[in-house]
Amino acid sequence: MTIEPGAPTAAAAAHASRSASQAELRARDRRVLWHPFTQMRGWSDEDFPVIRAGQGAELIDADGRRYLDGTASLWCALHGHRVPRIDAAVAAQLGRVAHSTLLGLGGEPSIEVAESLLSMAPGDAARVFFSDSGSSAVEIALKMAFQYWRQDAGPGPQQRTRFLCLQNAYHGDTIGAVSVGGIDLFHETFRPLLFDAVVAPVPTGPSRAARTADVERCLQAFDGILAEHGHEFAALILEPGVQGAAGMRVYPDGFTRAVVERARAAGLLVIVDEVATGFGRSGEMFACDREGIEPDLLCLGKGLSGGYLPLAATVATERIYAGFLGDYEDYRTFFHGHTFTGNALGCAAAVASLELCRDTGFLERARAIADGLGRGLTRLDDHPHVLEVRRYGSMVGIEVVQSTRGDDVTPYSTARRMGHQVSLAARRRGVLIRPLGDTIVLMPPLCMTADELTRLVDVTCDAIDDATRGAPSP
Ligand SMILES: *Cc1c(COP(=O)(O)O)cnc(C)c1O
Repeated sequence: MTIEPGAPTAAAAAHASRSASQAELRARDRRVLWHPFTQMRGWSDEDFPVIRAGQGAELIDADGRRYLDGTASLWCALHGHRVPRIDAAVAAQLGRVAHSTLLGLGGEPSIEVAESLLSMAPGDAARVFFSDSGSSAVEIALKMAFQYWRQDAGPGPQQRTRFLCLQNAYHGDTIGAVSVGGIDLFHETFRPLLFDAVVAPVPTGPSRAARTADVERCLQAFDGILAEHGHEFAALILEPGVQGAAGMRVYPDGFTRAVVERARAAGLLVIVDEVATGFGRSGEMFACDREGIEPDLLCLGKGLSGGYLPLAATVATERIYAGFLGDYEDYRTFFHGHTFTGNALGCAAAVASLELCRDTGFLERARAIADGLGRGLTRLDDHPHVLEVRRYGSMVGIEVVQSTRGDDVTPYSTARRMGHQVSLAARRRGVLIRPLGDTIVLMPPLCMTADELTRLVDVTCDAIDDATRGAPSP
């Protein structure tokens, strides 16, 4: 962008800001920002890149340095950055209107997204309720399930006031989503604020074989919980196939379906959180398709707008929707909504992103990337500091440990921040990845070329070598 002499001051100031050096921007960031999930005391020592631009699978910092975006900007940028079709759709929408409310009005882009979503969503999807984050999509599903039973006139449903969730689950950071979350590090502090949910165990163990051997115990525990409390639950909520934020913990094959079938048999509604797994990540359009399950309520976010704008959705079946119909004075209305519900720009981006998802070739590319990750990462099979590589479609978690002898595993001490060290080593080599604890996460944009994918895998492996070799022995 060039600024003519005498251009308006605001534009000149904006331009000056966009040509500020990275060091200057970093200093300004440190003065005014509070970053998410970040111990801010350590932040002042970090030489974090300040992103100014992106292109395809790359992000570009304020000094012009290019990085491969190895986690699709926190699992969002489904088709990469500056995707011509999405850019054009958002620009065209800007030429019409940026936002109008869905309270008392319709909005053209929201209708188009809903039609598109319903034609591709798993199961008996009938209605789309929009919001602006995955957490909100989950809150909405929980409240819908709760209210659904309150309004059911049959004998007993009013007792269905609790939720069943899974150990290690992550459904977002708002209080309802935290209530059905099972990651102590994130959730324990808030325990006194949370509503009551029952947490069922998931198969644990340091290897796929160990977890598979643990399935029977978990299903028995699940049956036991349902036998005792089944009639008290409004719904089961779960991430299908893989628990993302827990460190890409892939369930043994068939576990998702087994718990969903049991929950259904006990009369629970099933809320499926596909905020992370939706839109091709699993190798199918939705993990529900891969797992052979059908949700009553489906939560979507992250990639829904192609990662462009904060847009999320809760998709309900006709059965759920019909439970809310009544005369005005019946008060069956779902009294919930957000200011930006159905935002036009977000929906315009989503319409374009969903078109790209439906293009022939999208799922093939997603699967090719998934396979490429699987093949490339076999290099880590016998790595002394890699416990295992877990992969679900194009979602990868590589857990690094101090040592492992069979099932006898010694993790790195928390203070070593080994996952973080690996991500710093990767960044020095021009790749951005973000760990979950000591699990290195890869979730590439699904536009990555074969060469870029090879680079992502090679740099990740090299970074693990760098960091684990460089680490002082305990
Ligand atoms: C990221 C995520 C959420 C929360 O979404 P936000 O947009 O961060 O609120 C919920 N569920 C799953 C499975 C997620 O990965």
